[in-house]
Amino acid sequence: MEFTIFGSGSGLPVLDKGLSSIYVNYQGKKLLFDCGEGSSYHLLRHELCQNEIDAIIISHYHPDHVSGLLMLIQMFYLKKRSKELQVFLPERVADFEAILQFHYTFKQRWPFELILHPMEELPRVCPQVKILQTDHLEGYQDIVKELDLPNQMKSWAFRVDNWAYSSDIETTDCLAPILPNLDTLVVDALHPELEQILKLKEYRIRQVILNHGLSPALDEWLKNHENGNFIVAEENVPYHI
Ligand SMILES: [Zn+2]
Repeated sequence: MEFTIFGSGSGLPVLDKGLSSIYVNYQGKKLLFDCGEGSSYHLLRHELCQNEIDAIIISHYHPDHVSGLLMLIQMFYLKKRSKELQVFLPERVADFEAILQFHYTFKQRWPFELILHPMEELPRVCPQVKILQTDHLEGYQDIVKELDLPNQMKSWAFRVDNWAYSSDIETTDCLAPILPNLDTLVVDALHPELEQILKLKEYRIRQVILNHGLSPALDEWLKNHENGNFIVAEENVPYHI
């Protein structure tokens, strides 16, 4: 398994960090987990041609995770992608299709087939990937109820073999089902409390890659302690496990 973090930044753009996106190459399947703004440039930089990515998997709809998807699809169209593209969405697939049409982006015009799936179908289509719903969007319950919105507050974490990607989370407790016997965890190090990140030590994961920024408390902790298996995410460098 090989993976490259294209974007390790948080939702607040900064000059030297990309927005969320991780490329995974496992058993010949090339997957893109999240697709923040600028993902199309990362594919160009890494010379991944328009036919290489098999599936794009969006953990949740916050803009730093999905804002690059329309441009990536447009690039595939203009570069005449010929292979079908599977896109797994966190919720509300029909509404996403309406967003494509809103942008005058009609899949009927493309030389490739775009297949939009709800996330629940991912383990069937790609049996290598395990999915887990997380607690990231639960804090929106009140406003969703008050405004009577169709939002389902779905946000997902993923495991492929002995590698996992948390995407954004409020606690690491919500990841418990996918943590045993991991080699590598790419974890959101911005939102969870320090104590929640430190709890990951119990799982004896070989490397915990701190992604999506660092909370101020974790940043301070790292300055004063032996990092051990905690590593700050590096972008555009291939990791092999
Ligand atoms: Zn985020």
